[in-house]
Amino acid sequence: MSGIRPTGFLHLGNYFGAIQNYVKMQDEFECYFMVADLHSLTTHPDTSELKTNVYRVLAENIACGLDPDKVALYCQSHVYETAELYLYLNMLAYIGELEKTVTFKDKVRLHPENINAGLLTYPVLQTADIILHRASYVPVGKDQEQHLEMARNFSNRFNFRYGEIFPEPHAFNYNQVLVKVPSLDGSGKMSKSENQLATLFLADEDDLIRKKVMKAKTDNGPTENNSDKPDYIENIFGLMRLVSSEDVIAKFEHDYNHCVIRYGDMKKQLAEDMVSFISPIRNKVNDILNDEAYLKRVMQQGAEKARKSAKATMELVREAMGLHY
Ligand code: AMP
Repeated sequence: MSGIRPTGFLHLGNYFGAIQNYVKMQDEFECYFMVADLHSLTTHPDTSELKTNVYRVLAENIACGLDPDKVALYCQSHVYETAELYLYLNMLAYIGELEKTVTFKDKVRLHPENINAGLLTYPVLQTADIILHRASYVPVGKDQEQHLEMARNFSNRFNFRYGEIFPEPHAFNYNQVLVKVPSLDGSGKMSKSENQLATLFLADEDDLIRKKVMKAKTDNGPTENNSDKPDYIENIFGLMRLVSSEDVIAKFEHDYNHCVIRYGDMKKQLAEDMVSFISPIRNKVNDILNDEAYLKRVMQQGAEKARKSAKATMELVREAMGLHY
């Protein structure tokens, strides 16, 4: 089970941190993937763009290879049971632990004008989404590690108090380690809302991709063979490892280690490899977006599957809590 907030265009971080794993998992597991529209309300209370953004995230997931017939692909707010489980879990979550959450502290710093209770209990809502399907594996990027730890705490607390209902949820990535796709300027991660010129979006036009990659920070190159790479250079190699062929990566590693690297050439190569990777996805998204009726059907079908699983879990939850009078 996993979700993505409809707060803007999806980017390479969303792809390599999350969606790439969704697509592999769909052939191996019973999967629930959602557009997290309720979560987006914690930071984006204006709903005028929400519908457009929900449809776009759905289309982007499908264009990346997710098959709505294999998985439940749905919209979070269509599964009303989420709100009920969120309420029960809130009674098991302590203010102290919620206030210590890194993402909460970041958002307080960035938006001091809107520190709402939903923001504080964001990890509780996320736990409700996950355990509503009694999910064990949660494909997410590295930024979600702490939230998953909290999800384990909340669900274990429920199990301890009311009876063993939930398996322990764990962050999942096929390559064992969780991924963080860095931003092109070497500061932090690619993100939907911050630092847009240093983030490569799946919707970016070819020339914009080239422009962004060519602006990535470099220097005069190493002066000693086999020296360590500064963070911003390691980031460029990291991005290359995501989309370029082994030969290309080996060539630039060799050049770096022998102090003959030409960063201009390296960035040109990376830009072309990024264009080859992103442009087919972008074109597919645009085709899918043209068929709103199809996307609506996908969402309805997904909500039916998700609600069936949610209803079954909530029966167990109410029974365990003794709420059947
Ligand atoms: P969000 O965009 O915050 O709704 O996140 C959706 C998914 O994308 C989550 O699983 C995140 O962990 C993942 N994600 C977002 N940004 C990155 C990034 N720069 N690198 C890796 N994963 C990311």
